[in-house]
Amino acid sequence: MGKKEKQFVEEITPMEVDFAQWYTDVIKKTDMVDYSPVKGFMVIKPYGYAIWENIQQFMDKRFKDTGHKNCYFPLLIPESLLQKEAEHVEGFAPEVAWVTHGGNEELAERLCVRPTSETIICSMYSKWLDSYRDLPFLYNQWCSVVRWEKSTRPFLRTSEFLWQEGHTLHETYDEAQEETLQMLGIYKETAEELLAIPVITGQKTEREKFAGAYATYTMEALMHDGKALQAGTSHNLGQHFTKAFDISFLDRDGTLKNPYHTSWGVSTRLIGGIIMVHGDNRGLALPPGIAPTQAVIVPVASHKEGVSEAAEKIYEELRYDFRTEIDDRDQYSPGWKFNEWEMKGVPVRIEIGPRDLENQQAVVFRRDTLEKQVCPLDQLKDTVSSLMKDIQKNLFEKAKAMREQNTHVATDAEMFKNIMKEKPGFVKTMWCGEESCELKVKEETGATIRCIPFEQEKLGETCPFCGEKADKMVYYAKAY
Ligand code: AMP
Ligand code: ZN
Repeated sequence: MGKKEKQFVEEITPMEVDFAQWYTDVIKKTDMVDYSPVKGFMVIKPYGYAIWENIQQFMDKRFKDTGHKNCYFPLLIPESLLQKEAEHVEGFAPEVAWVTHGGNEELAERLCVRPTSETIICSMYSKWLDSYRDLPFLYNQWCSVVRWEKSTRPFLRTSEFLWQEGHTLHETYDEAQEETLQMLGIYKETAEELLAIPVITGQKTEREKFAGAYATYTMEALMHDGKALQAGTSHNLGQHFTKAFDISFLDRDGTLKNPYHTSWGVSTRLIGGIIMVHGDNRGLALPPGIAPTQAVIVPVASHKEGVSEAAEKIYEELRYDFRTEIDDRDQYSPGWKFNEWEMKGVPVRIEIGPRDLENQQAVVFRRDTLEKQVCPLDQLKDTVSSLMKDIQKNLFEKAKAMREQNTHVATDAEMFKNIMKEKPGFVKTMWCGEESCELKVKEETGATIRCIPFEQEKLGETCPFCGEKADKMVYYAKAY
């Protein structure tokens, strides 16, 4: 390792030493976020925000392709509306921020800053729906919400976070269920194909489901430190809210009915997932799909004849197909720039200097494997193009292998506890279905049931914790 390289790497705490500090170093050093004057509220800087925009673009297209339209509902919700669905208010009340004054005057009714928008949206839906002909309602909004979280970490858990929330109404239960699973499918596609993060999909237990939901479905990813991250959730809300909010429609048979309801959301937490799944001790490693800069060109000895021009020419050739940048800052050496772009996780770096120019070639470096190759200039675009696909795929495969290595099976309680102590990760066990049993495991080990996966395996006949008959397999993990 060269001296400069060493200096860069030393500025990031190795993840084996202190994973939490590694995470903090990476997000600060790469200029993704900054802390704000209010605890738990973060500033997302351009390098972090560009990743969010790329995620938005990918998802928004899929939402629209499946018939959803974007809209916008207000930030503030009257307290009386929040109160209407009993389970919902109980779940969210401890995390709600309240507006009590307008200017100097105390408001007649407190207004809550939306922690999620089911209540305000349902109050409007009850006005808008008349007949089965109006259904389905397929709306989504991109906005921020506020939940007064006790302990916060940038991206992973913040008191204000950016997200999308879809809210739909359907004529039948089956249609609502189909929608719930379709949107979870789009989330999985986003995670796996765009973010290169493999996820386990399944249903949440009663204890872990969304406050007010009939059923919650989730995608769960495994981070480098062996902790799970709930990366997105899709809820079948049944008729819980539509009854509470008096939403009804005249059905085909001439009777009034309550429609079935879904909601689904992913947030800027996904960015935390990208960092913790693909990052290493040099910093970020970004999948090309979301990298703000996919290829960076670094001219070497750019004062030498023809170098700047050659770099410029490469830039012109690549910029329409890839998010390309040319780093012509003259206050930094090429070595310094190499290290900085590596830390920022840019998938491909192209180096061109006088000697390369003589041979009509460039040096191409890939961040995921740290490999360099020499490439003739006239093949550069094709090479970069196939590298992007390769890197995207390789990051996914690496993440999947890491997850497999850290997924264990436990058939008795002792074994489970030992795994949780020694090698964290996902642990698959059979489960009796009892909440008391789930809670006991949490108290004793800190692990929670992440989901009852759609892909079931029969690992035994009984629950390893209580010995009762068990017919479901679940994933346990400690989670963010
Ligand atoms: P929910 O409405 O509770 O189902 O949340 C939807 C999604 O938002 C969750 O699956 C998380 O990925 C994400 N999320 C929930 N709380 C936070 C938070 N405090 N900070 C960032 N993301 C969050
Ligand atoms: Zn049990």
